[in-house]
Amino acid sequence: IPGAGLLEVRNLEVVYDDVMLVLRGVSLVVRPGSVVALLGANGAGKTTLLRALSGLLDVHDGKITKGSVTLEGEPVHHLSPAQIVRRGISQVMEGRRILAELTVEENLRVGGHTERVSHLDRVYDLFPLLRERRSNVAGYLSGGEQQMLAVGRALMAGPRYLLLDEPSLGLAPALVTQIRDLIVEINRQGTTVLLVEQNATMALSIADHGYVMETGKIVMDRPAGELLADEDIKEFYLGTV
Ligand code: ATP
Repeated sequence: IPGAGLLEVRNLEVVYDDVMLVLRGVSLVVRPGSVVALLGANGAGKTTLLRALSGLLDVHDGKITKGSVTLEGEPVHHLSPAQIVRRGISQVMEGRRILAELTVEENLRVGGHTERVSHLDRVYDLFPLLRERRSNVAGYLSGGEQQMLAVGRALMAGPRYLLLDEPSLGLAPALVTQIRDLIVEINRQGTTVLLVEQNATMALSIADHGYVMETGKIVMDRPAGELLADEDIKEFYLGTV
């Protein structure tokens, strides 16, 4: 089947509040089994692209005005967030939107939609710390633990595609390494990953392919190793050396 397994964004335009053009014809391909890094400065439109993929534009008064998102050749950009999750695409919320008053395990069960013991076990195997704290109130977890809980919640739906929005934001270096290793393990277990990151070096070190966005457009599209090796690109587009 042509395009089997592909998540494909084609010439996507997104407008906020009917007037503000934020994505100006974005095209991107996520191959099954891969880790793809989406990089770029604040305001480039990375979060907006993730919202378009997960069906969450509506909530922010955003609209797709042109182009398409297809999964395995089928358009998905007109589907609701719940339908998109059922197709196998889960997003880890920006800002770690966990439910602070619920326990760790309640948070995970809410994320699962359906009660799937196997998914809960998988999450606890990936994050032994969450198993230990399963009965603790989530609001009292540290920032890093809350981030892990947010990733765990997204995994409860058993996604084939995981969309991550800046998982390393605000974390200490040791925790960034931990999150990085977890993403590698999640991918190794068969989940395809689209990773939005400010930490370009971290993201490119685990990605197969990298895209760089600037003011609503993809300005660079290269194998991650090439982007990582090119000091000029890193300095000019990513603000890191
Ligand atoms: P960041 O890392 O800061 O989240 P980003 O690359 O993810 O940056 P977006 O959050 O997608 O960028 O924002 C892209 C542009 O769209 C910015 O100019 C932002 O101000 C604008 N924008 C984002 N959300 C909305 C909204 N709900 N309504 C209007 N404009 C918005």
